Amino acid sequence: MRTVHVSTGKPYDIYIERGLLDKTGEYVKSLSRAERAVLVTDTNVAPLYKWKVLNSLSAAGIEVTTHVFQAGEASKHLGTVSDMYKTLADAHITRKDLIVALGGGVCGDMAGFAAATYLRGIDFIQLPTSLLAQVDSSVGGKTGVDLPQGKNLVGAFHQPIAVLIDPDTLNTLPDRFITDGMGEVIKYGCIKDARFFEFLENENALDHIEDVIETCVSIKRDVVSRDEREKGERMLLNFGHTLGHAIEKLYNFSGISHGMAVAIGMVMLAKAGEKHGITAQGSADRIAALCEKYSLPTTESFTFAELAQAARSDKKSAGDSINLVLLREIGDSFTQKIELDKLEEFIAAE
Ligand code: MG
Repeated sequence: MRTVHVSTGKPYDIYIERGLLDKTGEYVKSLSRAERAVLVTDTNVAPLYKWKVLNSLSAAGIEVTTHVFQAGEASKHLGTVSDMYKTLADAHITRKDLIVALGGGVCGDMAGFAAATYLRGIDFIQLPTSLLAQVDSSVGGKTGVDLPQGKNLVGAFHQPIAVLIDPDTLNTLPDRFITDGMGEVIKYGCIKDARFFEFLENENALDHIEDVIETCVSIKRDVVSRDEREKGERMLLNFGHTLGHAIEKLYNFSGISHGMAVAIGMVMLAKAGEKHGITAQGSADRIAALCEKYSLPTTESFTFAELAQAARSDKKSAGDSINLVLLREIGDSFTQKIELDKLEEFIAAE
């Protein structure tokens, strides 16, 4: 068992162990006084793991109501959360009860948002089943939904009472979802940990998945604990994301995964950093090679003008400027404010 302690305003632990889903009930019992729980999961995950979790909770004496929503980012809107509120109300969930979020990032974000807002906030526990959710979205307390105008525009910071990561769930994950998560895994090496980056270059990450998850979660924990509400250091976690989001937007959020778009964004920014003399020469090539090793794309055919235009609508842009995450070298990152009007020129610099 590996445990990563997160000391945010409301501290909690992240547990990493194979077979952990079978112990969900024990953990809930030890961390909460809940008598009832709503188990939120999606149509992909429900047939695989719903019963495992449900049986474990029931064995611990918790009355469980299951709420299954249609899998996919397209479900991540207020209508789906509204359906969750109905299930919570019908199940007579009180302030001492909880929500169990079993699934990938979309499930965690929405179930977490329902927990943040129902009765002005109830407990929830995260059981992330995708690599992306295990290394990234289940840690940090960000919850929310998309609006037609953009991703994650409505949300709340709400920390779970615990995160239970069962790496066995990755065995049933289609390859493209492993690839998706690897985009974020590589990001952690780029922004904070040159040795971890080298480890990913020299080893097969999937052969050491528990180490990989623990390292990523620890890096995110360190950053988030120092900056719970995203005022400064937490922005570093957005390395590759400004252009990544722009690419996702240009694809209308279909046909390219988040991790793939972030991979392209990281390589482009490293290249731009090198051209400006900010980033150590050769960094972009190493990042590109590592992304390719894990089947991630590294280039895109959109013009710099198209990318800069799409980035303008990114919610992370504060007014006329944007906080760009840049590397001094692999493992050492910083943010630099840049005027939106200068973004195209910056990424296109020869
Ligand atoms: Mg991300």
